[in-house]
Amino acid sequence: MKNEKKDKVVILGAGLTGLTAAHFLENPSSGGKAIKPFILEKQDIAGGLCRTEEKEGFSFDHTGHLLHFKKKDSIWKKFIEGELRIDLKKHSRAASIHIMNTLVPYPFQYHLAYLPKDEKEKCVRDYLKVYKTGAPAGASFRQWAEHSFGRRMASLFFLPYNQKLWNFNLNKMSTDWMGRFVPGPDAGKILRGAEKKDPSQSAGYNASFYYPRSGGIGQLPAALAKGKNIVFNASIKQIDFTAKKIFFEGGNMAYDRLISTIPLPELLGYLKGAPQNAAAKKLKWTGVYNMNIAVKKNFSKLGHWIYFPHGKIPFYRIGFLSNFSALPDGFSTIYIESSYRSERKKTSGASVMKFFNIKSDEIIVRKDIDIPYAYVIYDMAREKTLAGIQDFLSRCGIISTGRFGGWKYSTMEEAMQDGFDAASSSV
Ligand SMILES: Cc1cc2nc3c(=O)[nH]c(=O)nc-3n(C[C@H](O)[C@H](O)[C@H](O)COP(=O)(O)OP(=O)(O)OC[C@H]3O[C@@H](n4cnc5c(N)ncnc54)[C@H](O)[C@@H]3O)c2cc1C
Repeated sequence: MKNEKKDKVVILGAGLTGLTAAHFLENPSSGGKAIKPFILEKQDIAGGLCRTEEKEGFSFDHTGHLLHFKKKDSIWKKFIEGELRIDLKKHSRAASIHIMNTLVPYPFQYHLAYLPKDEKEKCVRDYLKVYKTGAPAGASFRQWAEHSFGRRMASLFFLPYNQKLWNFNLNKMSTDWMGRFVPGPDAGKILRGAEKKDPSQSAGYNASFYYPRSGGIGQLPAALAKGKNIVFNASIKQIDFTAKKIFFEGGNMAYDRLISTIPLPELLGYLKGAPQNAAAKKLKWTGVYNMNIAVKKNFSKLGHWIYFPHGKIPFYRIGFLSNFSALPDGFSTIYIESSYRSERKKTSGASVMKFFNIKSDEIIVRKDIDIPYAYVIYDMAREKTLAGIQDFLSRCGIISTGRFGGWKYSTMEEAMQDGFDAASSSV
């Protein structure tokens, strides 16, 4: 439209959410005004959690990043393949859980026949005590696990695994985050899976997934970042939300509209005098320490990933990237994940090598990645705290969205949707 004043839009963060928002603001087909926003990014590269790092010819994602779309005909699958021109390959999940020195196919509850006979019987007996009543409304995660699956299944997998992942008191954690991420109990499948070994019994949001046919997941943000106005290494000092001005090292920038995709505690820290700064202290999250190795050894029989619930094993999950992103025969890339809250727990390389019988001369490359913001903790106070913060931000005219801007457990597909929604409501 001629002579129409275009608002100056600034986006904080060049992860998938921020980049998608910029893409649709620039693209009038989404109803935008062909606005070219500025993106302020603190790193020297775009992509956020969805980056792929290269080292000595090997690619490593920030732990496993697999695409699982909510709908078969997802518009985001079409967008990635059509507009971003990335060739995706579909995989049927092959995942297992390391329990009692054996690998039980995932989901655990549908594969009890893989356990020693007495353990299997205890699991079924405890499940039959609870299957009619299930979990009470408003249950904590611990209550949900014990009342949905029975005490034995809860104590073998659900509780120790989630304790390791969240590093948080499971009595104080809600179940609001689970949605499609944690498959609930299905009595028929539990009992069938206890009767005989049937690896085909599957469930869950990621029973199949997509991944680029070649290269890493970082191709998504790399394609979106092309031609965007990104200020890298931006070190924000303060945001004056009344004057609508951002001050960063070396300059300042005025805005009409602000879309923030950076973690809420950081955003609130920049808003001087914001009454919600006290609320920010109530937000809880975990970090993930991600050790990656490329080894001269074949792990093609171990599937895509393995969960490790046992408290004495320092990592909670290990994934075999080379089993969905092919490498030459005889080589493997492995990602090892451990989580931390107050202090960073570096995964010990020795423990991984011992576990998988890898000799030191078989390791070709090691690349460690620290992810300080990895998973939002859904404690009982999250919903109320978040509502207060978002209400304040919207009164300041700031859209805060994405995984840590929206403070939620969400996927890459949801990040793109969040970016699209933010762009649509900013024009
Ligand atoms: C361990 C792990 C595994 C995951 N696995 C999957 C998976 O298998 N499948 C899936 O779909 N999703 C997965 N996800 C989720 C997925 O990574 C995210 O949903 C998505 O990448 C979030 O994008 P975002 O843009 O909202 O946030 P981010 O990627 O966090 O982007 C935020 C950006 O803001 C920048 N930033 C931060 N602070 C500042 C600041 N102060 N100033 C300026 N810039 C700043 C950051 O550098 C970053 O670039 C996983 C996430 C994690 C942590």
